[in-house]
Amino acid sequence: MTAATAALDPEPAPGSGSGATASDTVTVSWAAFRAWERQLTTCTHPIRLRGRIDALDLATGELAPVYDTADEHGGVLHVACGNRRETVCPVCSAVYKRDARQLVRAGLAGGKGIPETITAHPCVFATLTAPSFGPVHARRMRGKTVLPCRPRRDASARRCPHGRDISCPTRHVEADPRLGQPMCPDCYDYTAAVLFNAYAGDLWRRFITYLPRHLARLAGITQKTLFAQVRIRFVKVAEYQARGVVHFHAVIRLDAAGEDYQSPPVSYTADLLCDAIDQAAAVTLPAGHGDQVVLLGFGAQTDRRPLRRDTIVSTGKPLDAEAVANYIAKYATKTLHAPGVPDTRIRHASEIGGLRCSAHYRAMITTAWDLGARQATGDARFRAWAHMLGYGGHFLTKSRRYSVTFGQLRAARAAYRRAQRYEAGQLDPWGRPVDETTVLFLGSWTYAGSGYAASDGQLLALMSADSAREH
Ligand SMILES: [Zn+2]
Ligand SMILES: [Zn+2]
Ligand SMILES: [Zn+2]
Repeated sequence: MTAATAALDPEPAPGSGSGATASDTVTVSWAAFRAWERQLTTCTHPIRLRGRIDALDLATGELAPVYDTADEHGGVLHVACGNRRETVCPVCSAVYKRDARQLVRAGLAGGKGIPETITAHPCVFATLTAPSFGPVHARRMRGKTVLPCRPRRDASARRCPHGRDISCPTRHVEADPRLGQPMCPDCYDYTAAVLFNAYAGDLWRRFITYLPRHLARLAGITQKTLFAQVRIRFVKVAEYQARGVVHFHAVIRLDAAGEDYQSPPVSYTADLLCDAIDQAAAVTLPAGHGDQVVLLGFGAQTDRRPLRRDTIVSTGKPLDAEAVANYIAKYATKTLHAPGVPDTRIRHASEIGGLRCSAHYRAMITTAWDLGARQATGDARFRAWAHMLGYGGHFLTKSRRYSVTFGQLRAARAAYRRAQRYEAGQLDPWGRPVDETTVLFLGSWTYAGSGYAASDGQLLALMSADSAREH
């Protein structure tokens, strides 16, 4: 099996034609091909699986072994980790990013089964940002000019209650490590910042839940009438700002009610949607800790603009489907990435002191850890997500029927590979061309290790095993 496997060329990129020639495939069984397909993953942190695949002849009930990892070098099969995070696996994250880009673009420009008429639907690109938790160093722009960070005022206004100079005349460059750092850590409201991160996902859900209510009111109709006419569909991504607080970028679109991506009535315009977004963004959420309650909400920096080909962003590039898809896909594979911030969960408070991250991020982590204490919130999430500065939500979420799903894109890829397999004349254990309508392939897998923490890897192994079972 290994000799045959080695004789095959690497997996061809979709659309580049078959990589295996007829002479290669004569001695290659379906299982060998499948093993080759999985073994040749370029994933940097593959999952090791132990297991087997058997073929069941549906007509006769006969069961025949087709593949066993015991025959593999090392007795394990390497499966791509599938991690979306660029810092964990550049290869798998590139696949995820491509899928995210296709998914976002299909919802803006059509394709992948979405009609191209979708481009005419009212659609808005919105950014929902946290409020200020205290003055921080920032790169302020007016057009292409960088402005002073926080210009000096008269001497009395320059000092904070702790006696620190909270002005900064610097015109910061993009890579300045001071960006996002508070002028005075004692003035900075770390508790509110971490609470915001922890409840940002809930705040978003509240926003998107209330959005139809505002839209209905602006349209002068009841919510019931609205639901009979339109659907709000979105895809959103979370991004960390330099100050370590998440904010959201979202594509929000109006479709007619129904499942077939029809245009909504003409009275629903992008401007109307913008107004509704402005109103819904004023949503608040009370968050308690100890005997105090903080009222969380989005900040005044909320931005929304209708998506049209002629909309120009500050970079001078048109804010078209391509640009937006690239933008969202970029953040879908990013996570908090700052020097010295751990990739994995913090297990004990004593680890925090040893972190080599900035004092600001350490303060965020410490605050999150302390908020997890029983006297504060007693909520285990704060400690579980302390290394993420309190945010434990998803990085990319979308409504039902925004466009295609990741699952559909993955299935399309699998179908493409399967089609190639048939072209290559793969045989089942009974020597017949593989026909998955007459033969059922059954896989059973156990996790045998990976480059990850056991908890993460086990989950991914289960997911991989799940997709292996499909075949
Ligand atoms: Zn990987
Ligand atoms: Zn500054
Ligand atoms: Zn101060």
